[in-house]
Amino acid sequence: FSEIEKAEKYTGGQWDDVRGFLGGKGSGLADMKRIGIPVPPGFTVTTEACNTFISSGGTFPRGMWDQVREALRKVEKATGKQFGGRENPLLLSCRSGAKFSMPGMMDTVLNIGLNDEVAKGLIQMTGDERFVYDAYRRLVQMFGSVVMGIPDTAFEAVIAATRKKSGATTDAGLGASDWENITEAFLRLYRHRTGGDFPEDPFAQLRLATDAVFKSWNSRRATEYRNAAGIPHTLGTAVNIMAMVFGNMGPDCATGVAMTRSGATGGPGPEGDYLLNAQGEDVVAGIRQTQDITHLRVEMPGVAAELEEIARRLESHYRDMQDLEFTVERGKLRILQTRDGKRTAMAAVRIAVDMADEGLISREEAVLRVTPDQIDFFFHPQFEKKTRTTAREAGRLLATGLNVSPGAACGMVAFDADLAEVWGKKQGKPVIMVRPETRPDDVHGMLAARGILTSRGGRTSHAALVARQFGKPAVVGAADLKIDIGRREMTAGHLVIREGDWLSVDGTVGEVYRGELETVVPNLEDPWLMKLLSWADQFRRLRVRTNADYPGDAERAREYGAEGIGLCRTEHMFFEPRRLPLLHKMIMTDLPVERKEALDALLPFQREDFEGLFRAMNGKPVVCRLIDPPLHEFLPDHVALMNELSALKIRLKNAATLEELDNLITEINSRQKILKRLESLTESNPMLGMRGVRLGILIPELTVMQVRAIFEAACNVTREGGEVYPEVMIPLTSHVNELRVQREMLEDEARRVTEARGVRIGYKFGTMIETPRAALTADEMASCAEFFSFGTNDLTQMTFGISRDDAETGFLIRYLRAGILPENPFATLDQGGVGQLMDIAIRKGRSVRPDLECGICGEHGGDPASILLCHRLGLTYVSCSPFRVPVARLVAAHAAL
Ligand code: ADP
Ligand code: MG
Ligand code: MG
Repeated sequence: FSEIEKAEKYTGGQWDDVRGFLGGKGSGLADMKRIGIPVPPGFTVTTEACNTFISSGGTFPRGMWDQVREALRKVEKATGKQFGGRENPLLLSCRSGAKFSMPGMMDTVLNIGLNDEVAKGLIQMTGDERFVYDAYRRLVQMFGSVVMGIPDTAFEAVIAATRKKSGATTDAGLGASDWENITEAFLRLYRHRTGGDFPEDPFAQLRLATDAVFKSWNSRRATEYRNAAGIPHTLGTAVNIMAMVFGNMGPDCATGVAMTRSGATGGPGPEGDYLLNAQGEDVVAGIRQTQDITHLRVEMPGVAAELEEIARRLESHYRDMQDLEFTVERGKLRILQTRDGKRTAMAAVRIAVDMADEGLISREEAVLRVTPDQIDFFFHPQFEKKTRTTAREAGRLLATGLNVSPGAACGMVAFDADLAEVWGKKQGKPVIMVRPETRPDDVHGMLAARGILTSRGGRTSHAALVARQFGKPAVVGAADLKIDIGRREMTAGHLVIREGDWLSVDGTVGEVYRGELETVVPNLEDPWLMKLLSWADQFRRLRVRTNADYPGDAERAREYGAEGIGLCRTEHMFFEPRRLPLLHKMIMTDLPVERKEALDALLPFQREDFEGLFRAMNGKPVVCRLIDPPLHEFLPDHVALMNELSALKIRLKNAATLEELDNLITEINSRQKILKRLESLTESNPMLGMRGVRLGILIPELTVMQVRAIFEAACNVTREGGEVYPEVMIPLTSHVNELRVQREMLEDEARRVTEARGVRIGYKFGTMIETPRAALTADEMASCAEFFSFGTNDLTQMTFGISRDDAETGFLIRYLRAGILPENPFATLDQGGVGQLMDIAIRKGRSVRPDLECGICGEHGGDPASILLCHRLGLTYVSCSPFRVPVARLVAAHAAL
């Protein structure tokens, strides 16, 4: 372990090591001391000591306590005070602090060093009896709950009773003798609960508190938090022992928390809350109504200016937004903690962009600082303004509060964390967790909830921090709500909401509505996001396209930055009421003439669809994949057909008229015909059967119709003045000969169309690579194909031999749980197998055709880890759903940086 002064040597350069060693709080304090920011004197017991303590079953490492006493003497010298002394007593705080911030999860004990004697001395020194007994009772309370495990509610009940007796509405209304009585009552309570006296000896207090802080690393709530946040359990916590400063010694004292910029929006700061004449915990606990930090300029202008100056210095030191704890003792400002501030996705983007614009960080760093999840968050549901207005006009607005974590959430009200967990996690119901305020042991419920609502607390309250960290929409401090946990209901005005009722929480604006409101996904209009993504575009090499079947999707994707369509599944266009009968006819008939009729009738529809896509993607390539799925997918489901038939047969028995009989027989016959065809098309392994290129080869008229539609559309849009780049793609090939056959047919038809219309269309002919054989013979494939697109859904299925339709509900889940497979290969590309096939295919393909365009169009195209692999493999582009396009743009930049 080490003192703060000692640690200074380590700081700078090895910051991360130091942070692991001293914990976030300890290294922050050491940094601040080093750069001359006022912090109270103190030292840090390292995480190493904690880990030794834990592994040895709860004893301090040898020599540790001597070193603590040695360091303590230095603190005494620096403060001129004496620990345990009567004359000028030094009080200490003993604070937990791990490498990664875990707000409120572990323990802290304040005012260590007080006992009856020391208290008397402190009263003589300060002349402030109220202050001293308030401090003393806090020590007994915190020590009692943290070290001895007495429930805090027992202490709070004593305070509440005293308040009632003296007619005070808040703690501030209690006087010196009240606090003295409370202290005595606490000491009795302590004795009653523990069977022993509160330790008089300051060193015993410090020892036990240190012991308790070490142990709090493995408390249930800390362990759960780490599980949820993905923090390793082996890190351990440091213990920070430092001189107390007092924000509760009079009107020239204060305590508060401040973020250097807004954690909700990322806008300019400071943002925070403070209280005059109070001690640290009061602000976070939400016991008293806090003041907005901007008001400090009015109440303590000098301190406010100094705080803003410190904020600037800390930001330029850490090059990030900071979250500070401060205390003002008799006009003197002390910073008690600094850490990188938690922020919403919106704020993360804005802060990164603003800091780059301010020159604090580079644009590359700004891009690297934003995570794919944060980008994704912009696409989370929101309530539209008009939805909110309508709801308000209908009297459904229940309350307003602080908009601490954006997004919209609807669900059933649960008034405690355990119920929220049961409903949300075990039963999969949408839950809104509602509490007067949240505490660290509520976290499991908050995680299971869709959204969070509290009636008390500020922007830096526990509920706000946790909600933000886990991206849960949250409204806190909705003061109009009267929550009655006992009766499991809350009221707002005359409205009563009971447990299980539906509620809608808008964390973007801070409003709460009764019932379930409709949600929408927002448009990309955030100017900071646009800027960040435009920077990402400058850094990436990988192109980003979208999978889109309809012009609307294509337009949206284009707005989101798609540079073309990487996959248009042309068969999706068939599933529409006016088209399906035509397709049925095409499938059912044995007569070439009838088939041609059906296809001719489908042609205009397909042409229109392609025109829409080409217009939406004006100037960008559009990959049109010819029909892929097996034909039986277009016929009615077997079971449904059988049911219909038996229903018709029953009606046949009861038919009243001859005419009815005739009609029924016709219907039955036509269904029987479909059934027969269906049965003849049904294969035992349809995924390995008549689909993809095989269909195109066996029903060439179908390919010809699709190609004609593509090129007629291309000619039409070109004539309108549009720029069209079709890329015609053949699915599920495994042998180059398949490609040759299809290519010939396709080029003939393309020529016929374009020559007849006198328009030149530049196009490419290519294939999907989705069978292992295609990948392994990619040089042959590339001799015929001008581009490749990896269909990694099928390629994964065929490489693993795992059916993509069944695996995720069957054994694959077990495999993942047992760690037999590290990741679901259908979600994240399997580097070793599928990735290797892709690598081979790209190399072989480009050996024949150096400029071969290679893309990916499976689900993996939107998955961050897979995108990184695609970059490494040298793909030309990834193609993903429109909503994932911005994520892909960012990740592609991360890959290149
Ligand atoms: P947490 O990690 O839960 O925030 P902290 O160790 O930061 O716990 O302490 C809790 C509260 O105690 C903080 O609000 C802080 O302001 C206050 N506090 C801690 N140390 C001191 C000190 N030396 N003097 C005054 N207040 C302190
Ligand atoms: Mg703190
Ligand atoms: Mg496929």
